[in-house]
Amino acid sequence: MSESSISSSSPVMRDWQRRSLASVWHPCTQMARAASAPPLPIARGEGPWLIDHEGRRYFDANSSWWVNLFGHADARLNAAIKQQLDTLPHVMLAGCTHEPAVRLAERLSALTGGALGHVFFGSDGASAVEIALKQSFHSWRNRGRAGKREFVCLKNGYHGETIGALAVTDVAIFRDAYDPLLMRAHIVESPDSRRGNEAQALAAMRALLEQRHAEIAAVIVEPLIQGAAGMVMHEPSYLRALRALCTEFEVHLIADEIAVGCGRSGTFFAWEQAEAPWPDFLLLSKGITGGTLPLSLVLTTEAVFQAFWSEDVTRGFLHSHSYTGNALACAAANAVLDRFEPDAAAGGGQLARNREQAALLAAAFAPLAADTRIEHLRQRGLVLAFDVKQAGERFAERFHLAARRHELLIRPIGSTVYLMPPYLIDADAAQFLFKAVLASLDHVLA
Ligand SMILES: *Cc1c(COP(=O)(O)O)cnc(C)c1O
Repeated sequence: MSESSISSSSPVMRDWQRRSLASVWHPCTQMARAASAPPLPIARGEGPWLIDHEGRRYFDANSSWWVNLFGHADARLNAAIKQQLDTLPHVMLAGCTHEPAVRLAERLSALTGGALGHVFFGSDGASAVEIALKQSFHSWRNRGRAGKREFVCLKNGYHGETIGALAVTDVAIFRDAYDPLLMRAHIVESPDSRRGNEAQALAAMRALLEQRHAEIAAVIVEPLIQGAAGMVMHEPSYLRALRALCTEFEVHLIADEIAVGCGRSGTFFAWEQAEAPWPDFLLLSKGITGGTLPLSLVLTTEAVFQAFWSEDVTRGFLHSHSYTGNALACAAANAVLDRFEPDAAAGGGQLARNREQAALLAAAFAPLAADTRIEHLRQRGLVLAFDVKQAGERFAERFHLAARRHELLIRPIGSTVYLMPPYLIDADAAQFLFKAVLASLDHVLA
């Protein structure tokens, strides 16, 4: 059986693939090559499983691009959305307000102990990044420091793909074609636990801030895990030191928790592990609706909020998206937060469950550490990754296709294989994932 025949073995499947390739311009895809790895037509989802039109199932090991937390078609999330649907699906958030948005903002603020007490609503992750960059610059400008208009990001960092977000993204494959269009950002060495370069990365940051703090508005980072870089991990101590540097040089710190927030790293916000003062901005999206509806949030401080407070309209933050604060998405987010309430008896207690699940995953994958074909087996919360040594040409695509045969949906980044599963890992699921990953490795490296 050829690698592509697995997904084109039935006329129904083939038909959806053909129609999709003809009419849907797939994201993050070279369409001319899509026929060799045709999109998998998914009919429905159930827990961690995606089920195709022939009834074959695939474990969604990357949570559908890191958004799904409690599985597909989760009954509690669905009920919350359905109830909101019959009450008020949407109303504009300029001049109006509604319970789901107010409750969500209050609850997120409370999760930061009130430190980030003002919440601005966006739609996708990239829009949250745009909002934070604009708010940072504009707040400095309102305070008479319009010269602070530069941004700093980390090497291999990823913050989304709109023009502003791409300017603070350092992933060549997404960025290079558009480079002439982008504002110039400073790119600083990123900490990487595989390289043990934390002190060096901090020294580079200090040197830049010392030199250009008068022109720099903000530093943006992905706390603990640089996702799109290939699950590059660093220690909380880096964040603590970075927070101190940003305070010392009067530069905003933007924590992009779009991927690592919502319990993924072991705490609700990854930032909590830094045991440091809060960042000036914290961004959420992806998991905040449990993978049901697009929503993003920018949490910020009283100081930033106050910089816009004026009788002068133009000193306000006149930014909006049509679906800002969509009530259905907010209802879903509130249902997600319910799960994280400490009271396990009432269906909360998710953080404790996540830590148990992370331990199960670690135990199942422990034997892989001795496998000489891989290196740098690493884990933070419910993200597990390793690097394949002799990966060879088009490894990511070949591994992805091989894994499909083992009921596993997974998309390596370069030669890094990672799992970022829904929060539904029991001992059986952990064993299943280990065996499927091993079988796929055997297949691809044979
Ligand atoms: C996914 C992601 C984004 C962009 O979010 P979109 O919803 O895809 O626009 C930004 N930052 C990080 C860290 C992400 O993982």
